[in-house]
Amino acid sequence: MATKYGGYMGKVMLINLSNGRIREYPWTDEDRRLYYGGKTMAAKIIGDNLCKNTKPLSEENMLVITTGPFTGTGAPSSSRFNISTLSPQTGILTSSNCGGNFGYYLKKAGYDALIIHGKSEKPVWIEIHNEKIEFHDASDLWGTLTGQAQEMLDEKLTKKNGKVPKNGKIVIGPAGENLVRFASVVSNERLAGRGGVGSVMGFKNLKAVTVSGNKEIPIYKKNKFEDLNYNWIRYLRNHPLTGDQLPRLGTAGLVSTMQMRGQLSTKNYNYGQYEDYEKVNGETLAEEFNIVNNGCLSCPIKCARTVEVNGKAVKGPELETLGLLGGGILNSDLGLINKWNYELDELGMDTISAASTLAYAMEANEQGLWDNGLEFGKTDNISQIWDDVAHRRGIGDELANGSKWLSEKYGGKEFAIHSKGLELAAYEPRRTVGLGLGYAVSNRGGCHLNGGYMVLVEGLSLNVDQQNPHGKPDFTVVFQDLMEAVSSCGQCLFTTYAFFPPPIISNPNSWYTKAFCKAVPYTGPVLRLLNKFPEVACFHLPVIFNQSKALHLITGMPVTFGSFFKAGKRGYTLERHINTHFGVDRNADTLPKRLTDVPQIPGDDSTRVPLEKMKNVYYKARGWDKNGIPTKKTLHRLNIKLKDKA
Ligand code: SF4
Repeated sequence: MATKYGGYMGKVMLINLSNGRIREYPWTDEDRRLYYGGKTMAAKIIGDNLCKNTKPLSEENMLVITTGPFTGTGAPSSSRFNISTLSPQTGILTSSNCGGNFGYYLKKAGYDALIIHGKSEKPVWIEIHNEKIEFHDASDLWGTLTGQAQEMLDEKLTKKNGKVPKNGKIVIGPAGENLVRFASVVSNERLAGRGGVGSVMGFKNLKAVTVSGNKEIPIYKKNKFEDLNYNWIRYLRNHPLTGDQLPRLGTAGLVSTMQMRGQLSTKNYNYGQYEDYEKVNGETLAEEFNIVNNGCLSCPIKCARTVEVNGKAVKGPELETLGLLGGGILNSDLGLINKWNYELDELGMDTISAASTLAYAMEANEQGLWDNGLEFGKTDNISQIWDDVAHRRGIGDELANGSKWLSEKYGGKEFAIHSKGLELAAYEPRRTVGLGLGYAVSNRGGCHLNGGYMVLVEGLSLNVDQQNPHGKPDFTVVFQDLMEAVSSCGQCLFTTYAFFPPPIISNPNSWYTKAFCKAVPYTGPVLRLLNKFPEVACFHLPVIFNQSKALHLITGMPVTFGSFFKAGKRGYTLERHINTHFGVDRNADTLPKRLTDVPQIPGDDSTRVPLEKMKNVYYKARGWDKNGIPTKKTLHRLNIKLKDKA
């Protein structure tokens, strides 16, 4: 619906693949004010429309593709878009975020979001150009790898238009078509990797969507926003994390720090350190494999790497892939990781879940639970395994269901490293217990980012006591909510690295950095007040946190730091509220016993995640009851209300 706010195109389209009907979905300015965009907006749409009996792989399930009010405005790292749906991996709400240029072009075409439901009888792809939305036969694209599919789409568009139109695309690979539970959606070289969004697309027989257009993206106070933006980008470029570490080594640069801190998952999370880590770390990637640094549209950080595989320049691996396909399976060949990373992207599979499922299978074999031929350190057959998973052949057919499903069939639940069915990232939580809590309570399952990314202060950039649980639940709430709000604006979460003033990061031995780190365990009561009454922060934070002011200048909405924070809180709680309809409660907020019951350092009880204790404090800080259900009072306080459904 038309909007008075800048930053929005004012249109959300509902596309029914079953009957080909397309209509506008009513999304009002009141909705925009409460939910901004991104994953939060998608959660509201899904919560309003799906009932608790909806199955992930069903006609009723929706793929909700959203942008945010920052997308396409030139705000730093704001080319993100989000795909939310019910996940075939977890059975609950998932949201998967992606860079590239699809979000930008979706807005240029005049849309803030697409909602795709139903199921096409035959494979189709959708072409969107401004007001025109067309379905095309995709039988010739079906079965292609993600790179080839994108090339073929460009050829088709070129044939039609006489030249390659500037466009954004999303495609799935064979993994999505064959309903691999952790299939991803690919856009250029970027991925909406997590939660199996690709298999929902595959189930709907939707191979691809292309978008292009030439609409203006309105900005409420353009000049003032540009002034703010100039200084914001300068700040990010001068920050030690967003201006140095991430551009220099990418996320791969974190491998060495994690090793030092005992946080590098090794041999399926048996250990937190890998003796050959130097062969698979960011420094080696930079020296021996990196061709050029790269990144998403309108991003001053540029954290991506380009490496060479079989003579071709392709996207390099992220930290999670390096950790899980390196020490995670006892492989020290970085060239192989680059190759596998490329293969997984081409087949359209999430590297985190694929790697972690493989590690589970290796351990199940080692322990005599499942005779599958897979062994730690044995790497000669892995490319074939990926292909078999994507095409559901042989043991690949079972691996395609992920580690939770496998552990229910073969046993070994204590070392199937997932939460709510989603495999954990490469950070070993027994040495970053705040992140351990985050993994367990995260709305989309075992996710470090949705979990609040406490590891950033628990060793990666600051030295807050890794094992001390005090203060961590309250900090987790703050980080989760701020990241929720940032993400709902369409901005990359790496910009949140810059929340910490540069001197604190650059001078780890200074008195103020030490004081900050020492103070964290005692900050609970203060943070609890802020969590309960975010409105008291009725101002904008200067320099370090520009998002709330930018949102006001782009949209014209009345925004303060407090209301921005509250919107994040609303989004996070809304997702939880929806998930409770799908059976999520305290019992679902778990980690495998290896992480909660077995100390990483034998005899040192502090090197395990004291989860149940932290959960109690966390639920209280969130205004949820002891069973982890948001109370009526909390829902009311945050203006959360879903439409009644039959
Ligand atoms: S920081 Fe990295 S992932 Fe984020 S927008 Fe920039 S290049 Fe993309």
